[in-house]
Amino acid sequence: MTDRTLQQSAQFISGIGPEMAALLARMGLESVEDMLWNLPRDVLDLTHVSRVEDLQADELQTVRGQVVDIDGRMLNRGRVLTTCLLDCDGAYLQASWFNQAWVRNKLVPGGTYLFSGKPKRRSGRWEMSHPRMQFLEEDEQSAHGGILPKYGLTEGLKMHTMLRLMRTAVEEYSDLLPERLPESFRTHFELSTLQEAIRQVHLPNTMDEYNAARRRLIFEDLLEFEVGLALRKQRWQKQGQAPVLPMSAKIDSRIRRRFPFQFTPGQNEAITDVVADLQRDIPMHRLLQADVGAGKTVIAIYAMLVAVAAGHQAVLMAPTEVLANQHWQTLSSLLFDSQVNIQLLTSALTTAQRREALTRIKEGAVNLIVGTQAVIQQDVLFHKLGVAVIDEQHKFGVEQRAVFTSSQDSPHVLVMTATPIPRSLCMTMFGDLDLTLINDKPPGRQAVVTSRIMGVGARKKAWQFITKQLQTGRQAYVVCPRIEVSEQEVADPLEIPVSAETVFKHLSHNELKDFRVELLHGQMDRERKQATMERFRNQETDVLVSTTVIEVGVDVPNATLMAIMQAERFGLSQLHQLRGRIGRGKYQGYCFLYSEADSEEASQRLATLEQTNDGFQVAEADFELRGPGDVLGTRQHGAMPLRVAHLVRDVKVLEEARGAAFKLVESGRLHDPEYQSLHRQVEERFGSLLSLTPGG
Ligand code: ADP
Ligand code: MG
Repeated sequence: MTDRTLQQSAQFISGIGPEMAALLARMGLESVEDMLWNLPRDVLDLTHVSRVEDLQADELQTVRGQVVDIDGRMLNRGRVLTTCLLDCDGAYLQASWFNQAWVRNKLVPGGTYLFSGKPKRRSGRWEMSHPRMQFLEEDEQSAHGGILPKYGLTEGLKMHTMLRLMRTAVEEYSDLLPERLPESFRTHFELSTLQEAIRQVHLPNTMDEYNAARRRLIFEDLLEFEVGLALRKQRWQKQGQAPVLPMSAKIDSRIRRRFPFQFTPGQNEAITDVVADLQRDIPMHRLLQADVGAGKTVIAIYAMLVAVAAGHQAVLMAPTEVLANQHWQTLSSLLFDSQVNIQLLTSALTTAQRREALTRIKEGAVNLIVGTQAVIQQDVLFHKLGVAVIDEQHKFGVEQRAVFTSSQDSPHVLVMTATPIPRSLCMTMFGDLDLTLINDKPPGRQAVVTSRIMGVGARKKAWQFITKQLQTGRQAYVVCPRIEVSEQEVADPLEIPVSAETVFKHLSHNELKDFRVELLHGQMDRERKQATMERFRNQETDVLVSTTVIEVGVDVPNATLMAIMQAERFGLSQLHQLRGRIGRGKYQGYCFLYSEADSEEASQRLATLEQTNDGFQVAEADFELRGPGDVLGTRQHGAMPLRVAHLVRDVKVLEEARGAAFKLVESGRLHDPEYQSLHRQVEERFGSLLSLTPGG
């Protein structure tokens, strides 16, 4: 037992031979340290299983038993009732679910389960409605009493083996774990030592012990990441001076006068935040979040005009050309009678045009520049850049931030997201930015009534509703996940409305044959697209069958209906954006989510949209169900560089750790000797990701 180290191969742990080591390696567990940090995914609390005889009505309890009978029944109006009988040592409990047919596929007859819920007594029998259920593997059924950690497994590796290996790893090696948090810090935040926490998370005696240990580990995990963010922010702020952009009541009223409406209270608060930033010589680095339609563009324009008023340039970057064009149009009409020169910079420019534009930008002949991010960041040299606004930055993570080349100071940067971002993601992915939220919307916006449409009967009814509305003069969007039909696809388009083309053909001959229906998709050339949109805008067509091209930039107040085919294929935030198109006019908007999916996930997800019109809630739900990659519209960032924390579950710890981290960095205490090992660890883990190392 000489020279034990955490870095040595997991094979050094007693009971792990080459074969087992290979299995573990497949799960990314190669070193002893990997093993110790292989935390349980969950624990099974078997200390609180109740006997059916002892159940109390309406209190949350857990029973254990075998599934003996499963039944599914159609009720009226297409509703489905699924029931199952659980044999708990000879006493029976009935569980029931409404409209969750997928439950049936999850229940294994004869399998042993834990059911948790609030039971009721009905005609002499205990019943639980919509209980949480947990299948017990054979290994787990034997664990009577106690707390059972559950680990990730791989083929050929059974739970009881894993439990044994983990116990051995902890017993043989946990004393080597280094302590990075000074005692005073641990006392203040009520954290145990790392060694104790690793022991207790793997070998807990009580749920409290497990929870405290887990909190300790997550705390350090998040603390290290947040210290990294705080260091990055500090570096960024010290890097260059920003121009101080003076503000006055006169400038303010000159800007406001240009808008045909009053700003909302939320917009005014956001402007206050931004203006305060612009008046300091530390570069602004702010994230503006608001739901679709809340009016973020106003804030962007305001900030840019403050820069222009101070004799500086400002740039607005959009994620797509369509949006860049739209912003350019907005700015042009807002400023048509002013001295402000605006330059649109997109890939549509010829080489000569682009060269000329770049010269004008460099010489300061233009004040405002609008374009796509790619185009602007290539080789544009600004004369005197005061403010840069980045629209829809949410697609980019912490490691990719815009870099501007200005002949003078660092610009103030305002980042805007089109989709609300869940709090926890915000504190990590964008944790080095200051945050402004707009929580209100311009007056007159209504909530869109949203319904899931499943099954033939419901479809028929929905089309009836839509046609009735069309007859009264409203217009409709039909949104499909794809454009074309592929060869193999079956010819029953009502059941499987796979593509915009199929749906278009089908609807124009069937459900919508009495209406003027047109097709719109991204592969049509620009002119045809515009003409089609124009006809729809002028009410020369009633229905637009399209792909998600309508997601961005379309605004037709008379269009109040939206049918989304195969809605389960879209992300929740995307569906929310789509329905944002029909909540704009004076008529009530209706959104129908057609779905074929019979899975728990899909069903739950779509239900969220029925229940709320709040983009933040939608984003939280999307995040919880599908992880960060989907919320941000890119899978690349699906994996956060965190070891143990679960951003949704652990948001409270995240807040604590974040507060502590920023304090350590801002007060300079991070440089005290007692934090030296924490500091080194941060640089080791996140140095390159966060470009903390000099020159990075
Ligand atoms: P988003 O936050 O989604 O980018 P926009 O900035 O595109 O929203 O604004 C959506 C619409 O609301 C635009 O047509 C805009 O002119 C309008 N709008 C913005 N602010 C107000 C306001 N305070 N009062 C009335 N309409 C507003
Ligand atoms: Mg916008």
